[in-house]
Order: sequence, then structure tokens, then C-alpha cells
Amino acid sequence: MRIGIPRALFYYYYFPLWHAFFTALGAKVEVSPPTNKAILDQGVRGAVDEACLPIKVYYGHVLALRNKADLLFVPRLVSVEPKAYICPKFMGLPDMLRAGLRDLPRFIDTNVNLRQGTEKVLEVALEMGRLLTRNKRQILAAWEKAQAVYQHYVALLESGLRPGPAIERLTGVPEGRRRRGEGEGPGRWKVGLVGHGYNLYDEYISMDLIGRLGRLGVEVVTPDQIPGAVIETEAARLPKRLFWTLGKRLVGSTLHFLQRPDIDGIIHVSSFGCGPDSLVGDLVERFSQRTRKLPFLYLTLDEQTGEAGLQTRVEAFTDMLAWRAAQ
Ligand code: SF4
Repeated sequence: MRIGIPRALFYYYYFPLWHAFFTALGAKVEVSPPTNKAILDQGVRGAVDEACLPIKVYYGHVLALRNKADLLFVPRLVSVEPKAYICPKFMGLPDMLRAGLRDLPRFIDTNVNLRQGTEKVLEVALEMGRLLTRNKRQILAAWEKAQAVYQHYVALLESGLRPGPAIERLTGVPEGRRRRGEGEGPGRWKVGLVGHGYNLYDEYISMDLIGRLGRLGVEVVTPDQIPGAVIETEAARLPKRLFWTLGKRLVGSTLHFLQRPDIDGIIHVSSFGCGPDSLVGDLVERFSQRTRKLPFLYLTLDEQTGEAGLQTRVEAFTDMLAWRAAQ
């Protein structure tokens, strides 16, 4: 049985977990290629105009797997932790895809709603596993193995490895980097790069932002390198609890970066048309201004964003870092 997993959205957060689970149950996992122009163009054509860029890209990845999988893994993600939600666009994905695209393989569209407690996750694993075997013990063993791989993945990210190389190390799925190693070493400046993983780590969407910064002497630290408990503690300093998981990561990591003396600036990457980010982004910028006046760059990405404009803005940002260092 071939299970297709789109290399988009929560791929950058959970792929090693899903890969280990399905592989342990005897399935072959097929991943769509790294995002490219054809994938983006197909996604833009297939998705509704109002969709944000990462959702359009997801459509493209689903189409890239159309003839390569017997089942497509498109879970209905409602909540991945207690008392918090994922963006509503994730919840509606299976329906949106079915309504907009034809001739797709059958979906594994299991409801993932851990809002009431993480113990529900076992039910989710059993529901998905039953599509491959009736042997409950085998499903539970596969789940246990998948969780161990996931813990290892999180530890690799917290040690500073980017998701691409960490995924490659754990699953053998090549990350497809164009210029390996760039943006990974120590730089002249250290910058907190905040945003959703599917924007930061997809080199096509971000126009290789991490590599670009690396070539300008900027080393980046991302939210995935910060332990979850630190993010939670920082986000809890807000007067009102944020109930968006991704928004909380963004705010918590920014507040953490603002306290670190080794951080010289902050870049917030967002998608044009992202409802949650328009709110959280404003919070992040205001906090940055109020707490510690670090150079701050806000980048919005959509399918029209040009490389030249992005490069100019990034260079202006590094000029600001250099100017501050010279003061
Ligand atoms: S959080 Fe924003 S960028 Fe992410 S899927 Fe939702 S609307 Fe799109």
C-alpha cells in the first residue's frame, strides 16, 4: 500500500512521526517533491483565490501525488494540543480538496482533535492504523515507535538542525536543498526568524530566505530550536491566553528572543491573507518595540513576491544590523 504525504504545511512539524507509523505498518510512504514552479502554479490554479499561499502550495503537492499513491494522508487537523486550535484552514482541508480537485486517491482524513486531552491521540492512531491492519497490537507498537522517532526529531531540531536535514537523517527522504550548508554556520549577526515552519523551511516559498541571510552573514535561530516549555512560559506572559497553537509559538519565541542578549534582530515571515498572523504579527511587532528596540523586519509572502524585492529588504535589514553594531 502506497501512502502519499504532501511535502507541505504540517510536513515540517510531523513528517517523521507519520513516516515511522505508516512504515512500521508495512506501507510505502511516497512524498511529493520539494516545491517548484509547476507545483506552485498547479496549486494556485486548483485552490480558491482567497486561500493563503501555503494552502495553495498544499494543493500543488496533493496534485503531484495524484498518480503515485493508493491513499493520500490529509488529516483533518482541528487541535494538536489541549485547549488550543490550529488555523481553521487546516480543519477544512479534506473538504476543500475534494470540492476543488478531481480524480484524487482516497484520503486518510482522520479527525485530529486533541483539544480535550492528548490521550485522544491513541484513538487517532488506531483509526488510521485500521486502514492498514486489523491487528491492534501491531498498531500500538507502530505508534510507540513513531512517538520515539518524533521525540528524536524534536531533539534534533532543538539542537539546531533544520527540519530538512533532520527529516533526511530520520527517514531517508532527501530534503532537496539547492545549496547545502548555507545559513547554517555562525554568522556576524544572530537573528530570531519567526513564522510558520511551512513558510520558513520551504525554500521555494521563502525564496531561500535562510540561505540568503546566511550569505549576508546572518545566522538564524527559529522557534523550532526553542524548547516547547520555554515557548509556553513566554506566551503565558500575555494578558490573554492565545488559543492558536501556531500563533502561540510565534509570540512565545519572539518574547524569548527579545530577552536574549545574543539576538541582534527579529524577522517575522507571514503569508499574505493569513488571518491569524495579521493579529499575532501586530502583537509581535508591538512587543518588540516596547521591550527592546531591535531591528525588526516583517516579510509577507505570496505567489507574486519577487526575489529582487525580498533581497533588497533583507539587505536593508542587514545594513541596519551593521549600523547598530557600529554605534
Ligand atoms: S495559519 Fe495562516 S498561513 Fe497558516 S494555513 Fe492558516 S491562514 Fe494559512
